[in-house]
Amino acid sequence: MSYLVFARKWRPQTFSEVIAQEHVTKTLRNAIEKERLGHAYLFTGPRGVGKTTTARILAKALNCINGPTPDPCMQCEACRRIAAGSHLDVLEIDGASNRGIDEIRDLREKARYAAAEGGYKIYIIDEVHMLTREAFNALLKILEEPPDKVIFIFATTEPRKVPATILSRCQRFDFRRIPSSIMAEYIREEAGKEKISIDSDALSLVCRASGGSMRDALSIMDQLVSFSGKEIKGEAVSRLLGLVEADLLAEISSAVLHSRGSVALDLVQEALVRGYSIEELIAALVGFLRNLLLSAAGAEKGITDLSDSEVALLRQTVTGVSDVHVLNVLRLVAGASAQIRSGASPRISLEAALITASKLGIAFGIESLPPVTEKVAVVAVKGIQPDTDSSSETAVQNKEETADGQEALVEAPGTAETPVNGNKDTADEAHSDDEKERENSYVRKISGLFDMIPENR
Ligand SMILES: [Zn+2]
Repeated sequence: MSYLVFARKWRPQTFSEVIAQEHVTKTLRNAIEKERLGHAYLFTGPRGVGKTTTARILAKALNCINGPTPDPCMQCEACRRIAAGSHLDVLEIDGASNRGIDEIRDLREKARYAAAEGGYKIYIIDEVHMLTREAFNALLKILEEPPDKVIFIFATTEPRKVPATILSRCQRFDFRRIPSSIMAEYIREEAGKEKISIDSDALSLVCRASGGSMRDALSIMDQLVSFSGKEIKGEAVSRLLGLVEADLLAEISSAVLHSRGSVALDLVQEALVRGYSIEELIAALVGFLRNLLLSAAGAEKGITDLSDSEVALLRQTVTGVSDVHVLNVLRLVAGASAQIRSGASPRISLEAALITASKLGIAFGIESLPPVTEKVAVVAVKGIQPDTDSSSETAVQNKEETADGQEALVEAPGTAETPVNGNKDTADEAHSDDEKERENSYVRKISGLFDMIPENR
């Protein structure tokens, strides 16, 4: 048996099977029922949300032996050949590779002849925005005087690049990104039919990584099945996609929120050893802190694409922490990202942000935090930027500190978990003198940071 990728195997074959685009399929069904068909349709929307799939279903609906019908039979010669892509009168053209005037002129010549099999002649032009201006002009001439029983279906991810003269002659349908919840339900169901089990963590990671594109989600599923067989778990998805595990992000966040900057730095080191880049780590951390903020603020409705266990992890991490505290940590970490974009050293930027963030609770008390402006985040990073003449010295110093951090973690096992229980006194006792000295040296480098804060109150 030949292997068929999920995107082809699970491709919807009827209007009712197309998910999350009811506003399109319902209108098309009505048009077919009432025999009010246009000559040209424009399907817009992100990639992988069902544009060409819907175009093929429309072609079947029109050319089915029972057609035009909103419910093509799927059995007749026409239905089967359209599904297989071998129907003589249903032509799919890739606009990206047939973008010139010659191709469109050729199309114009052929469109004049009646359909070979007596039904509609249907041209599906994918990525139509890629056509040249001359090709669009040639296309416009056909649309101005469309031959009888010829229908054009244009698909594009970039409708703004389609000339207004073409747009005005098309019925336009905007396809939407597929919401995570609907996508997850669909994948779970289809996977179930293949005896593939996928846990809810894995499912939410796949849906999130797809960005609302079903094609992308199914291509990840293909890789997962060849990677881990028919039992798909969250860790496998993280490894395959190079995602930073939620547990690690929770540990870093928890360490920072409970004033244990050195633990956070050790975890950063651990993440680097595991192969993540600083940029990946910051992006993941910002995403995690954003969800943490929503959880702390009691606005979990805004967290739409996490599994139940991930939401539980957020709640556990944020127990006893105020939303303002999380917000300020988020600002500092996001500030590090901005610094890196403008050329600062990634690792130093992140480390400085985490240490500064871990001082917020100690300096002001967790409940009464002043707002931290972007200006502060900038100073936090700039304050320890290596000078051009002393950069090697700074680099060496950082390395030593990281090595110290690992020792400190070994000497005081379990300290990382202590603050999660909210027992701050125990956590403070567990700070070794070395750790304190190391953190203080960072604070000294971030000169003027805390002096600035009162004026922002
Ligand atoms: Zn049929």
